[in-house]
Amino acid sequence: MVSDRPRVSVVVPCYNEQDVLHELHRRLSAVVDEQEGTAEIVLVNDGSKDATWELMTELAASDPRLVCVNLSRNHGHQLALTAGLHICRGERIFVIDADLQDPPELLSQMMARIDAGADVVYGKRRQREGESAFKLITAASFYRIIDWMSDTQIPHDAGDFRLMTRRALDVVLDMPERHRFIRGMVSWIGFNQEPFLYDRDARFAGQTKYPLRKMIGLAKDAITAFSVKPLTFASTFGLIAMGIAVLTVGYAVISYFFFSTEPGWASVMSVVAFFGGVQLLVLGVIGEYLGRLYEQAKGRPLFVIDRVHRTGGSGPPPRAGAVRTRATTADV
Ligand code: UDP
Ligand code: MG
Repeated sequence: MVSDRPRVSVVVPCYNEQDVLHELHRRLSAVVDEQEGTAEIVLVNDGSKDATWELMTELAASDPRLVCVNLSRNHGHQLALTAGLHICRGERIFVIDADLQDPPELLSQMMARIDAGADVVYGKRRQREGESAFKLITAASFYRIIDWMSDTQIPHDAGDFRLMTRRALDVVLDMPERHRFIRGMVSWIGFNQEPFLYDRDARFAGQTKYPLRKMIGLAKDAITAFSVKPLTFASTFGLIAMGIAVLTVGYAVISYFFFSTEPGWASVMSVVAFFGGVQLLVLGVIGEYLGRLYEQAKGRPLFVIDRVHRTGGSGPPPRAGAVRTRATTADV
């Protein structure tokens, strides 16, 4: 049977990337031109406030390989990427950021690794140009912490830059979780995954779209999605606190009967503060998980597509609002 799928789909989430789109398109086109077979380039506009969407559709007018997806608002990097992964139809899927920090020219070498039997080839950064020391240190600590906490082996210094086979992507699309840490989810599925060492460039233009707040959010999603260890720390803390409480009560009783009791303000305050702190910490940890369980239980769609623009006319959204499983988007 001859497949009507493009040989490769390139999926790019874009948020306020008007300054890079032309260059991105130029370099991606050159790269996919070199490949055998057909290609599509899926650009997802994640509720940009600048002219990203207008530029995308302008580019699509002259390039039938472009598929432009407009989300109804800003959903965040991981969900924008998820939307693109749902829409794309290729046999192999190449995920890349819009800012050209990851060189698209590596596609041919990554394709060769898949030809040789890999299911996922993920970019592993050897060197990162143009990143602040703060970003490098926080990223390095994050990878070490998640390594220690999670049973899934999540590769260090790897982002979402990767090439994967359709069967690998289909497993990811079958995972309904809403707080998505896609690089971790891809690691989780198994199969034959290979690192691909490369040097990361500086952003082509514009600012990072990952301020500290979003980085912390992604780290919390990653930890809670891949580890229940924080819940066990909570109970360990609780146990230690209980032990200290027993000793303190013993001390208080002995003092009461055998020594003249002090006014004791300082010790009372320190015990109250200590237990107050432990209880809040434990409640906070439980709250992080509970909040995620609650959001998952609501079962809302992960993202909402406003429209999909392909050559031959823009279509209506695949189905108003609800794009939760592969089946609802595959036929767009
Ligand atoms: N991005 C997105 N939605 C967001 C934030 C970022 O689609 O809410 C995209 C962004 O356009 C880029 C990719 O996610 O293609 C990674 O963002 P960025 O390069 O700013 O992150 P960094 O490389 O600084 O970690
Ligand atoms: Mg970047």
